[in-house]
Amino acid sequence: MSYQVNEKGYYGDFGGAYIPEMLYPNVEELRKVYVEITSEDSFKKEFDQLLKEYVGRPTPLYFAKRLSEKYNTKIYLKREDLCHTGAHKVNNTIGQILLAKRLGKNRIIAETGAGQHGVATATVCALMGMQCIVYMGEIDIKRQAPNVARMKMLGAEVRAAKSGSKTLKDATNEAIRDWINNPVDTHYIIGSVVGPHPYPDMVARFQSVISAEIKTQLLEKEGRDYPDHMIACVGGGSNAAGAYYHYLDRPEVNIIAVEAAGKGIHSGESAATSVLGKEGIIHGSKTLLMQSKDGQITEPYSISAGLDYPGVGPMHANLYRSKRAEFISATDDEAMSAGLELCKLEGIIPAIETSHALAALDHRAFSKDDVVVINLSGRGDKDLGNYIEYFNF
Ligand SMILES: *Cc1c(COP(=O)(O)O)cnc(C)c1O
Repeated sequence: MSYQVNEKGYYGDFGGAYIPEMLYPNVEELRKVYVEITSEDSFKKEFDQLLKEYVGRPTPLYFAKRLSEKYNTKIYLKREDLCHTGAHKVNNTIGQILLAKRLGKNRIIAETGAGQHGVATATVCALMGMQCIVYMGEIDIKRQAPNVARMKMLGAEVRAAKSGSKTLKDATNEAIRDWINNPVDTHYIIGSVVGPHPYPDMVARFQSVISAEIKTQLLEKEGRDYPDHMIACVGGGSNAAGAYYHYLDRPEVNIIAVEAAGKGIHSGESAATSVLGKEGIIHGSKTLLMQSKDGQITEPYSISAGLDYPGVGPMHANLYRSKRAEFISATDDEAMSAGLELCKLEGIIPAIETSHALAALDHRAFSKDDVVVINLSGRGDKDLGNYIEYFNF
């Protein structure tokens, strides 16, 4: 059995393309060509070159000596925080903008919640000289002012979604509406391994550079190309999908996914989607989804804006249900103290999303000789305000 997507666009029971009729031509166009185009030599060459010279890849696999001593195991950090724009998200936006170019599209739309994906999209649009429109909930525009300013500086137009709860889900609805109205010249860059097939697989492939590099780097450092444990935080699931990708079908690697438990899994203020979720459809894909008894989507909560999503990508829903991955969750408090610990022990300020992955070290024991890799998805500059408020610095 494989944990990769099948030819129908499913991971086990999850995935597919549940979309309105009017969106069908756009999604179908992508589905037909995404593997072919991204496998072309000229595509791979341009993608690899931009990842190297613009993003700064390969990112280091850093042996965290003091952290390892504290937890009495061998911990390596995959430094996605050192990517241009400060997180892994740019790996995907570079891939999708190159695809858009080959499809003859010159207008890009995106949705964003905290603004990180909006910034990564605005960045690559500036790089390629393409028009960029980012949909963002009206409330998020107020909460995430620095990222709104970044997008504007990069030349993007930020459009407010004023319906519903005025947050990510509403911004996504606006983006979908835009795409329906502009099917010919527009490509929609989705920011995680969510959405209708082929998006989850396409985004996972662009992010898979993370585990491709880890294989090479571990072979050099440990004499084998795999870790015993691969740990990542899961919002929609794209940094995790990239870190797991080349290990999904290798049972010797224990996969650990960390979700945001907010104020506690059963507190009513949480984003622990796999544990709390039931099968449902969100943004075009069948997955595990936090919802009420009558199927209304529940508003998620996490101190980390990037994990504050009511669903999870279909790859991860399948990893959960099939028990291929071990799912744990970290509360706001556990994540914040794990983040601060990394600052003190290693001199690295992580994004609050990433701090959830680090909290796994306190949740379970690892053996002395275990090789543990943690995907350090992003840096904490964007979160300084939150850290300051939380710790009273
Ligand atoms: C957006 C973001 C996440 C969560 O998104 P995934 O698709 O689950 O990776 C995690 N870490 C950082 C730093 C982010 O910016």
